[in-house]
Amino acid sequence: MVCFCFLVDQTKKVKRSKPVAGSCSRCGGGASVADMITQTRFCYVPFYCKSWKAIMCTFCGAMLKSYT
Ligand SMILES: [Zn+2]
Repeated sequence: MVCFCFLVDQTKKVKRSKPVAGSCSRCGGGASVADMITQTRFCYVPFYCKSWKAIMCTFCGAMLKSYT
């Protein structure tokens, strides 16, 4: 089953985001709260989807906090 891991991939998508109070610890840019979707695909066919929230930096894209 060595090849199994090559057939599975995960993609993260930002569904929507809005600015929130706070700043990035890395670059000092503005933070925003984003609705994220993690999609797991097997042989390029999506079979599992999870939505979650994260606080992200709008400038450098760093993830500051995540909620599952
Ligand atoms: Zn940043």
